[in-house]
Amino acid sequence: MSTTTLNPLAPSETQPLQQRLVFIETQGCQMNEADSELMLGLLQREGFISTHEPTEADLLIINTCQIRGAAEDKAYSYLGRWAQLKKKRPHMKIAMAGCVAQQTGGAVFERAKYVDVVFGTQNIHQLPQLVRRAFDENEQHVLAVDKQKERSTFDYFDDVTQIRQDNGVSAWVTIIEGCDYFCTYCVVPYTRGRQISRSPNSVLAEVQRLAEQGYKEITLLGQTVDAYGQDFNDRQFDLADLFELLSEVEGIERIRFMTSHPLDLSDKIIEAIANLPKVMEYIHIPMQSGDDTVLERMKRGYTADDYFRLSDKIHAKIPNVALSGDYIVGFPGETNEQFMKTVYSVARSGIYYANTAAYSARKQTPAGVWENRKVDEAIADEVKQERLQTLNTAISKQALAHNLPYEGQTVEVLVEGPSKRNPNRLTGRTRTNKVVNFDAPQPHAGLVGQLLMVHITEAYAFSLMGVYTP
Ligand code: SF4
Repeated sequence: MSTTTLNPLAPSETQPLQQRLVFIETQGCQMNEADSELMLGLLQREGFISTHEPTEADLLIINTCQIRGAAEDKAYSYLGRWAQLKKKRPHMKIAMAGCVAQQTGGAVFERAKYVDVVFGTQNIHQLPQLVRRAFDENEQHVLAVDKQKERSTFDYFDDVTQIRQDNGVSAWVTIIEGCDYFCTYCVVPYTRGRQISRSPNSVLAEVQRLAEQGYKEITLLGQTVDAYGQDFNDRQFDLADLFELLSEVEGIERIRFMTSHPLDLSDKIIEAIANLPKVMEYIHIPMQSGDDTVLERMKRGYTADDYFRLSDKIHAKIPNVALSGDYIVGFPGETNEQFMKTVYSVARSGIYYANTAAYSARKQTPAGVWENRKVDEAIADEVKQERLQTLNTAISKQALAHNLPYEGQTVEVLVEGPSKRNPNRLTGRTRTNKVVNFDAPQPHAGLVGQLLMVHITEAYAFSLMGVYTP
C-alpha cells in the first residue's frame, strides 16, 4: 500500500489515458453528484469515455456517502458485485471515492482487497494521476486521502464543467466545501474538512464558461453555501456579493444556491435574493427538529423560535418565496412530544417541502458515541419509521396546499428537456424550483433551454401540470 502527497500535474504534462471506459456510481447528496461530474470531466479530458454499463467499463468508481449506515453498506455491496466482474475482466480497475473513502482510508483495502484506488473528497483533482498509477504502473492499492482542501485546489476544476443531468441547461458550481459547525450527528466536517470558499474569480471564470457553452441556470453548491466567504482573510466578500457578480454574466438567466444554514442566512443575503432578478426565490434551509432540547443536543445553534423568526422574515421580504428544509426523526432520546413539535414546525415555518430521514448513528460522531453508551436513548426502528411516515404525511399535505394556488396561474418555466415519464411532454422548473410537466406544440427541440410562460392546469403535491401556447 502506498500513500501519496502528489503534486498534480497539469493535463498537458501527462500522456492521455486513451479510449478507456469509465462507469461512476454516485451515492448521496448534490455535492457528491457534482463531484462525480468533476471526476468524469477530469477523466474525459484524459481520453476516458463515460459508459452507463459497468460490465464493459475499464474503470469503475463508486462515489460513496456516509450520512447513513445503510449508504455505507450499499457501497460495499456494489464493490462485492464489481469484484465478480473483475474476476472475468482482470484488467478492470476499481476505485472508491467520496466520504466513506475519506473516512476509512487504507482500511478499505483490508475489507475489499480487489479495490485498486481509494481517494478522498479532497483528492479529486489528483484522479488522473492516481488512475495512471493503477493502470500504467500497475501499482496496487493507490491511496490518497488528504484531510483538508487548499483553496487553490478549486482552480484545477476551472475548465472542467460540472453538468447537471446532462441537459445542457443547468449546471452545478461548487463555491464552498466542508463545514465548521460539527452538528453532533453529522460526518461532513470529518469527511469534507473545514469550511473553505472558492475564490470569486475562480467561480466567475467557470460561470462565464458555462454561459458560453449555452447553460442558462447555475446552482451554487456548498454544505453551508450561505457561509461563503467567511474564511477569506484578505477580503470582505459574501454570498450576496457573489450573487451580484454572477448576475452580470450574460446568458445566465437563473442563479440557485444550496444548502443554507439558518445561522448564516444574513439580512444582506435575503435582500440580495429579493432584489436581484436572476437569483431565484427559493431557499433550502434545514431545520432538522422543531424541539429546542433536540436542537441543542444536535448542536444546531438555534431554537425553533429562531428558525420561525427567520422564516417569517424571509416570507415578509421575498414575496412568493418557496422554502424547503430537512428533518431528522428519531434522534437519540427524542420523545414523542418532541417529535410532534417537528410535525407542528412544518406548518408554522411555511416550508413547502422537506427531505426527511430516520436518524442513523455514525460512530465517528458525538451522537453515535452517546447512542452506544446509553443504549436506552436509541429510538427503536419501528418508532422511527412511524414518525417518518407521520412527518411525510404532514409534508405532503403542506406541499399540496402550497401548490394548489398555482392552478390557473401562468408561471415562468426554464425548460430542461422531455419529461421522464412522458417524452411527449416537456419538463422544467418554476423560479421557486417546482417541477412543471407540460404540453407544448411540436417540435420541442427549440424550446429546451428557453424561459417559457406556462399555464398551470393542475397541481399535485410534488409537481405541477401545465400547457404552453406560443
Ligand atoms: S451544518 Fe450541515 S454539514 Fe455542517 S455539521 Fe451540521 S449538518 Fe453537517
